[in-house]
Amino acid sequence: MNIHEYQAKQLLAQHGVTVPPGEVCDTPDAAKAIAQKLFTAGATLVVVKSQIHAGGRGKGTFKSGFQGGVKLCKTADDVFEKAEAMLGNVLVTKQTGAEGRLVKKLLVAAAPEIKKELYLAVLLDRATSRPIIMASTEGGVDIEEVAEKSPEKIVKEWIDPAVGIMPYQARKIATALGLKGDVFNPAVKLITGVYKTSWECDAAMVEINPLCIVVGPDGKETIVAVDAKMSLDDNALYRHPEIQAMRDLGEEAPLEIEASKFNLNYIKLDGSIACLVNGAGLAMATMDIIQHFGGLPANFLDVGGGASKEQVTAAFKIILSDPNVKGILVNIFGGIMDCNVIATGIVEAVRETGLKLPLVVRLEGNNVQAGKKTLGESGLTIITGDSMADAAKKIVQALGK
Ligand code: GDP
Ligand code: MG
Repeated sequence: MNIHEYQAKQLLAQHGVTVPPGEVCDTPDAAKAIAQKLFTAGATLVVVKSQIHAGGRGKGTFKSGFQGGVKLCKTADDVFEKAEAMLGNVLVTKQTGAEGRLVKKLLVAAAPEIKKELYLAVLLDRATSRPIIMASTEGGVDIEEVAEKSPEKIVKEWIDPAVGIMPYQARKIATALGLKGDVFNPAVKLITGVYKTSWECDAAMVEINPLCIVVGPDGKETIVAVDAKMSLDDNALYRHPEIQAMRDLGEEAPLEIEASKFNLNYIKLDGSIACLVNGAGLAMATMDIIQHFGGLPANFLDVGGGASKEQVTAAFKIILSDPNVKGILVNIFGGIMDCNVIATGIVEAVRETGLKLPLVVRLEGNNVQAGKKTLGESGLTIITGDSMADAAKKIVQALGK
């Protein structure tokens, strides 16, 4: 699950990370009121930031033609104007795809003068099975670009999960970032805080880009997280009801939301062959074999090891609500899964939805005979596949490829 920048900053602040003061809002009037408060409190510049689950907002363009999803303002009236231009409009960035994202909320925050932009992230390194901290002096830009052009500018520090971040590790990163003097100790505290946020919240990723050395009105330098991106491990969300409450369904694909209600792992793709499979590994292999025979999968769908008849019916309806779908491939290897449960679910779903599209079913394993009997006696037009390859070939052929 992804969360918005303003929510990530709340979590970071709870773990001792300094973020610029600011508030979220959803009307230009509220934006102006927040800005007035910030100016009164001593801010000389205020930033208006579109809240969408995608980066690259600064360089993004609204479909209205308005440039930039992150804008600096000198007056509260200017904040009102920028908020009006952003709210209710669709922002297209490098990360949103051409369809863009509707901006419904804005973060209005104090914008201190930035002296240097840095990069800091905590991720999970699959190769070592450990959290990894990545940092770079090249902040504010696309980190993928830095990784490609000057990988030596990215420093990495692996953390032993049983011990947590050691003080020397935070100091090592701060040193690698070229931090010294008055900002060194605050930076060590901030790096430690970012790691703690990641660990305590069960995050899959926390990215601060840019992490900034800023100059306050008194001329003193401090270090603050100017941007924050965070994604959480869905499997650990049950431990964090306060983070679950941050979920913004408006940012998620509607079919994926429907699927999550039934505990189905569904990801929409661009092809025309829908697939319904049990087990994530088999689901991926099914997508591969569809491609192998010249088709394109319309989705990834894993109904899980012990799906109920209701889940199968729901799964069917979900894959059919995608208008690109021209055919369906069901590939079930029953281990825990009873093939007859799947077969009954399929028959029910086909009847309920009045399916007219070609449907190929390959069933194997637990109680397969009963499953085949259910399909055979249903009187429905179902093409059966003897093996995975046979089934994949048949669905591709049925679509006339
Ligand atoms: P992103 O484009 O979605 O990654 O959004 P960011 O929050 O990173 O903002 C993009 C850029 O706008 C940053 O790299 C900064 O250069 C600038 N920016 C954002 N917030 C502030 C701020 O508070 N003060 C100043 N001076 N610049 C900011
Ligand atoms: Mg950024």
